[in-house]
Order: sequence, then structure tokens, then C-alpha cells
Amino acid sequence: MGEQGQRLLQHLVPECPHCAHRHRFALLIGPDNEPLLFAGTQEVPVQLVCPETRQSFEGRITIGSNEQFLRIADPFAADHSFAAAEADPELAEWIRSSRQTSTEYCKTMLTASSAGVPVHFAVLQYLDISGRTGGWTTRAAALPALLYVLAAAAFALAQRPRLVQLADTSAAAFATLRRTTLRRIDRLARWGTTLFLLGSVGAFLVFAILLGR
Ligand SMILES: [Zn+2]
Repeated sequence: MGEQGQRLLQHLVPECPHCAHRHRFALLIGPDNEPLLFAGTQEVPVQLVCPETRQSFEGRITIGSNEQFLRIADPFAADHSFAAAEADPELAEWIRSSRQTSTEYCKTMLTASSAGVPVHFAVLQYLDISGRTGGWTTRAAALPALLYVLAAAAFALAQRPRLVQLADTSAAAFATLRRTTLRRIDRLARWGTTLFLLGSVGAFLVFAILLGR
């Protein structure tokens, strides 16, 4: 695995012609020796083997016109994590949606952090900070807005799509990539949340001090 241009294709046969069961195959797809210039897709026949009756049957897969079907990959090497998740549909759904959940959170928090900046300045204006110009208080009063901006930056970075080259197309390599991506989102989202909370506490203190005068 890891050959140049090769990838794994998960192919699901809903009803096997021999045993009527559902089978999942991992097919190894490689680059065609004579690739077309404008690559589209093509439907090609593949010889599959029923794992229960050991009888072969023909299936059809859609691959790129600059690709070719090489062989059936080791189903146990490629299918492990998917099979485990499939046993528990709730777990599978959780795994599928976890990235989206974090992105939704970052999106909401990005809006909240961005909105915090003008709101903060509006309240400062209402409390008439301009009357107390000069000194460190004026500068410190703007600090929560700066924290909001930094929080917004962290949430924006967390959502940024990243281009990665996946040389190894095995399920294990995909799981590793998924893990590092989710960890990166979590790290940035945690930074963003901390900055947002610091900004909120700072804004509260600034308002309390100004109102107390
Ligand atoms: Zn079968």
C-alpha cells in the first residue's frame, strides 16, 4: 500500500446474488497507464467473490477515467474500523457527525466573538469613556475587544480546511489523519473559548469599574 496514485474504494453490495447477504469490499484502484487529459468518470465491471459461498459474481464500480481497477484489497486490513463502528449505529453516527459538531460550535463562537467587538465599544461609548481620556484606563478598556478579535481568529483557523496529501490510503492512515485533524480543531477551539471567556470577564470588569466611578 502507499504506491503512487493508488487508493482504496469501499464498495458495498447490498444483496449478494449467491447468499443474498450484504457484503463490503475494499477495492484497490490505481492510475491508468494511459490517462485521459480531461478526466471524468467511467463505470467498470469488477469480479467479486462472495466471502460466504466463495462463488464469484460481477459488480460494477464508478472510478475516474484515468484510473483502473487493480484488485480486491485485504478486507480485514481495510475494513477494520468501519466494521467496528457498524456494529453500533449510534457510535457510527457519532463518529460521522463529530467533526461537524465541532465546526458548528466554531461557527457559532466565531459569530459571537466578532459581535463582541462592536458591542464592547458601543457599551464603552454609552458609559462615556471619552470623558476620561488618557492614562492606562482608556487603553485597558479596549483590551477585551482585542481578546475577542484573537478569539475570532482562533475559531476561524479551526474551521480552515487543510490540504493534505494522503500517500497511504489504508483505513489506519485515514484514522490517523482524522485524529490529528480533530485534535487540531479541539486545540484551536479551546484557545478561542479561553480568549472569549477572558474577553467577557475583562469587559465585565471594565464596565463595573466605569459604572462604579
Ligand atoms: Zn454472498
